[in-house]
Amino acid sequence: MKYSLLTISIKPTLARLILVKLRLVKLTFAKLTFAKLAFVKLAFCCVLLMHCFHAMSVTQDQFKVHGLSAFENEQAKMLKDWLTQGVNATRDTLGVYPTPLALHLYPRESNQPVPWAYTRRDGKGSVHLHVDVRFGLTKFVDDWTIYHELAHMALPYLGDEYRWFSEGFASFMQYQIMAQAGLLKGKLVDNYHTKISPHLRWFNSDLTAASIATRLMDNQQYPAAYWGGAYFFIIADQLLIKRHSTTLTELITHYQDCCRTHDKNLADVVTSLDGILNEALFSRLLEQYENKPAREVYPENFE
Ligand SMILES: [Zn+2]
Repeated sequence: MKYSLLTISIKPTLARLILVKLRLVKLTFAKLTFAKLAFVKLAFCCVLLMHCFHAMSVTQDQFKVHGLSAFENEQAKMLKDWLTQGVNATRDTLGVYPTPLALHLYPRESNQPVPWAYTRRDGKGSVHLHVDVRFGLTKFVDDWTIYHELAHMALPYLGDEYRWFSEGFASFMQYQIMAQAGLLKGKLVDNYHTKISPHLRWFNSDLTAASIATRLMDNQQYPAAYWGGAYFFIIADQLLIKRHSTTLTELITHYQDCCRTHDKNLADVVTSLDGILNEALFSRLLEQYENKPAREVYPENFE
């Protein structure tokens, strides 16, 4: 599996790095006094130790599966393979999350592999997936649910008020992850077009986009709320490509390294993302969503 391979492959690289760095230290500091050399060695060991811990933290315990005992051996293996693939695909697109993922499985008969799933954001957060194991591995891997739920964990809990933002983010990202993993059928833009276009009419209004998305969520018009919210990230991605020669997925990867652990709410997230860019791109876009008439932010037709 990809995880164990990566763990093994980093270790020899690290060992080589240590040897090369030690040789360099020997050569460069051959003429230094004993005291200075001891200090340099000590400092160098600290750097190496930090490097080791970092390498360990990104390769070990990336996720823990709970609830496998409810399934037969063969099914449990299939579910583990599916989750490994899902976590790896998410990590390839959104980066390595600083906190290991807790994934909970529950058996449930249905007409689809993952009929029900949600995230819990208490403590470190966890993902809960109800699964029908009568479906095979391919059906599980092709299902968008796991990528959507794992994408949620790239951001902290944003509160009820910003559920449209959180669901919009996960909806936008589920297809980014699937596209990068080669699992998305058709072009990325066509998939967004199909999902977002039917809901643009709700935003042809003088009310703000944030208030419309919140109302759609409160009225349980979920596809409209989710995909209407996803348009925020379509705009953000386009701005990032144009102004910063980067993409939203690249930015979120960077965000995992610098900021994810410290952020507690949407204001923190927006500040962090703007900080990375050195431009108030996200705070300005959010301000438009909260203050401008939605018809000035959303097009009549998806382009
Ligand atoms: Zn969601």
